[in-house]
Amino acid sequence: MESPRKFICGNWKMNGDITSVQTLLSDLRAAPQKGVDMCICPAFVHLSLTQSVLPEGFFLGAQDCSAQQNGAFTGDISASMLKDMGCSHVILGHSERRHYHAETDELIASKMAAAHDSGLVVILCVGETLTERETGQAEAIVSRQLKAALIPSVTATNTIIAYEPVWAIGTGKVASRQDVETMHATIRKTLDKYAGMRILYGGSVKPDNAAELMHAPNVDGALVGGASLKADQFLAIIEAAAV
Ligand code: PEP
Repeated sequence: MESPRKFICGNWKMNGDITSVQTLLSDLRAAPQKGVDMCICPAFVHLSLTQSVLPEGFFLGAQDCSAQQNGAFTGDISASMLKDMGCSHVILGHSERRHYHAETDELIASKMAAAHDSGLVVILCVGETLTERETGQAEAIVSRQLKAALIPSVTATNTIIAYEPVWAIGTGKVASRQDVETMHATIRKTLDKYAGMRILYGGSVKPDNAAELMHAPNVDGALVGGASLKADQFLAIIEAAAV
């Protein structure tokens, strides 16, 4: 089967204000329009602004959604609200949600079902902590997170997997190409029923390591945190994936 187009997604996390978001979006208009799928995931409060001036070629995504459809859930945002706002994608199971909000595999699976129900593509994050890697549990942890997420609504096109070793997120430490290849091969094997499903790498992707990572076997793109907040860096990563 032919490899899918690379997918480069920026996770802006809890960053930015109206002025900086406007500037970043304006700078991203320079993105190449050649064979790469691109997505940006701003904070909820910047979705409307981002949607109104979304640079050509970009999808709009959110960073989380509720498992509930609607109702008395103060502070939560439903998948259908995101869809209504113009989102096509939603990140679920990010390690910061798993860690700071104690999100379990079970809750993440419920959120995935809600997102699929509303027609959103889920970018599901999986990844091990440093202790788990050092104690030889990396593959077992990632397999557990992945298997728990392979709910009946999952298809090869409505779900994208992002392998993000927790110790590489925001730390400047990047997984070695060998570690990435090994884990992505394991993930691909687990996904054998879903031919063509994309597997992204995330964890300190920068312009100087993007080309090598993006062209490793079974790597179909990147989930980018810090570097997606700087237009020149994000554009360079997109360029590296487009080659
Ligand atoms: C992330 O938060 O998904 C991420 C990969 O962050 P960074 O690129 O900053 O490591």
